[in-house]
Amino acid sequence: MTTLTATVYKSTGSWYLTKDEQGTTWKARIKGVFKNDDISSTNPIAVGDFVEMEVENEAEKVSTIYTIKDRINYVARQSPHTRHRHHIVASNLDQSLLIATLKDPRTSLGFIDRFLVACEAYHVPAIILFNKKDTWRKKEEIQFAEWKEIYETIGYQVLATSIHQQEAIEEVKAILAHKTTLLSGHSGVGKSSLLNVLFPEMKLRTGEVSGWSGKGLHTTTFAEMHDLPFGGRVIDTPGVREFGLVDIERGELAQYFPEMRNLMNDCQFNNCQHMNEPGCAIKAAVQEGGISSDRFYSYMNIRESIRENDWE
Ligand code: GDP
Ligand code: ZN
Repeated sequence: MTTLTATVYKSTGSWYLTKDEQGTTWKARIKGVFKNDDISSTNPIAVGDFVEMEVENEAEKVSTIYTIKDRINYVARQSPHTRHRHHIVASNLDQSLLIATLKDPRTSLGFIDRFLVACEAYHVPAIILFNKKDTWRKKEEIQFAEWKEIYETIGYQVLATSIHQQEAIEEVKAILAHKTTLLSGHSGVGKSSLLNVLFPEMKLRTGEVSGWSGKGLHTTTFAEMHDLPFGGRVIDTPGVREFGLVDIERGELAQYFPEMRNLMNDCQFNNCQHMNEPGCAIKAAVQEGGISSDRFYSYMNIRESIRENDWE
């Protein structure tokens, strides 16, 4: 019996596409009931998982996955079918890159903050890239400078690109090189355009139907990992615009705001929710300008949305 260590590149639910350490691609499936007691998810195996496989058919490169290695981290969203279960979007990530735009379409600060909170909760370092710099006028330049300041102050890397004018593309490549990166962003921000720049030889992705799995599964609904020509991997998650805050409770939300996490111990009450409590160090910092009021506003909004989820 030949066994192999491999990484999952693609999943359609019943079949997986994996790559072994020699770079050979395999069609893999799970034998019988596959239990992963890590978390209760709707998919036992996700893109990015490190697995052990048994070779079933060497000539046709068919194998069976029998072990999944412990995940370093993962990103999940609420299952569209079962509200209280997770769907693991991707695992073993070095970082997540959010592509945002200041106009056409405008990515809101609230959306960015939700993304950042999820990244904090899932222990995935986050980078924010503002694309379509070529369309900016004075107003957007000022806005970018403001947001860059807010996010860099609290430890996030922020950059501006123009894919159309090939601006800062080398910077993006340097960020992605030799790492496994999850790409995120609203549709229309330039994600496909960036993928086309990174993978010039990649065939047209949209509308492509996966040949090996049959069943006419549309590639655009499943996460897929790609090897970068200069080293590293990118995971594209079409159809997943936002990964949810599935695991977060109201009481722990402030921990996922780095600027709050650092100050929380100074609050008078150790169960302070930073809303209306006396002696709150967070509110004091917001008033004094040490914490961005926009970020605090996002905190309140996200907190409110978590409460609504709890009631349902
Ligand atoms: P996706 O939905 O995120 O995959 O976005 P696309 O890559 O399809 O881009 C959406 C639109 O934005 C297309 O019309 C692109 O040509 C355009 N676009 C992408 N990058 C840039 C850019 O840097 N500058 C400008 N002006 N338009 C861009
Ligand atoms: Zn407080």
